[in-house]
Amino acid sequence: MAYVNENHLKLPGNYLFAEIGKRVNLFKNDHPEAKIIKLGIGDVTRPLPAACIDAMHRAVDEMGREETFRGYPEYEGYDFLIQKIIEYDYLKRGIHIEADEVFVSDGAKSDTANIQELFGSDNIIAVTDPVYPVYVDSNAMAGRTGVYGADGKWSKVVYLPCTAENNFVPQLPDAKVDMIYLCFPNNPTGMTLTKAQLKKWVDYAKANKSVILFDSAYEAYIHEEDVPHSIFEVEGAREVAVEFRSFSKTAGFTGTRCAYTVIPKEVKVFAPDGEAQSLNRLWYRRQATKFNGVSYIVQRGAEAVYTEQGQKQIKATIGYYMENARIIRDGLKSIGIQVFGGVNAPYIWLKTPDGMDSWAFFDKLLSEANIVGTPGSGFGPSGRGYFRLTAFGGRESTEEAVERFKTRLKL
Ligand code: PLP
Repeated sequence: MAYVNENHLKLPGNYLFAEIGKRVNLFKNDHPEAKIIKLGIGDVTRPLPAACIDAMHRAVDEMGREETFRGYPEYEGYDFLIQKIIEYDYLKRGIHIEADEVFVSDGAKSDTANIQELFGSDNIIAVTDPVYPVYVDSNAMAGRTGVYGADGKWSKVVYLPCTAENNFVPQLPDAKVDMIYLCFPNNPTGMTLTKAQLKKWVDYAKANKSVILFDSAYEAYIHEEDVPHSIFEVEGAREVAVEFRSFSKTAGFTGTRCAYTVIPKEVKVFAPDGEAQSLNRLWYRRQATKFNGVSYIVQRGAEAVYTEQGQKQIKATIGYYMENARIIRDGLKSIGIQVFGGVNAPYIWLKTPDGMDSWAFFDKLLSEANIVGTPGSGFGPSGRGYFRLTAFGGRESTEEAVERFKTRLKL
């Protein structure tokens, strides 16, 4: 008999976006004439930069010629891409990263979900609340989170509330935690940390021999000066932090798939006898066993992000989305809705009017204005009473959505 991994049975029912899809389909069946605007799922809509397309076309041609054909890529990524990552994403900010500390992958989702495999099952995880659900669910599948309660919390997870009351800045936990997931600019709140705020976490991790798993998938959206782009801008972070980056939101690669993870050689996890083990080596070994690399064509496309044309094109697209964010922010503010984020991130996090339940507001927005957003409670208990809109839509539909907020939503 094949037995099930019972950890999977402990996961709560519907994945957030499946539930949203279900409700939208029900609404469509009853109102086939409604023109629905989707500002829910965090997926991009603008096409890939022309520089990336050209590079991928050239790479396809290379694959068709015997002299330039390539088979399996290296597990950790091609050197041509790694060198560009090091130079543009780190060296330009004064950060020194070695080539064998960068691991190219098919996505920050898989990397942030898989990294927990390298940690013992008794580690205590801490997550900001609300949170990108992958961190918690991947640990739940590994049996590290305890029991899921009626309050929407796992018994063994330390939640770090990020709400309007603390300006979305997570406070250090009272209890000792071992694995700390931080994501800034944040999905879903769109908020950021300053270098000084991040430094407190690095100091905590050093004092407690914890590891910070820092997701900076939205780094390219940072506009303000004092917001760190990388956790490695913080002194001491090389000893305690892993950083996840992605070309998905930076360059429209959500469907093309390319990302990378940086693990400095100083980052250590410990055996029961106290012996330090290099997380970098453990990850290399794990990837070599379970991952066969990112396609040559896609890595050439990602490399082109760093050309002069590529840089110009991604900045134009990010500028387009951030103008959407401004339109949403200003429009909602003008009708008295309290909004957060949307300045250094493509997400606008709003407080539901009159403290309305997140799902109740979802239904109201869908039925009155035919707009789909994401209920904040889907990201964790502290997301209750909040709601997420994304700036990834087209300009016209974003403007139309704001107009509908003003004219059709009964506040
Ligand atoms: N990390 C965060 C915080 C995200 O919001 C997302 C996607 O929405 C990802 C990672 C996934 O990135 P990728 O497309 O590289 O898998």
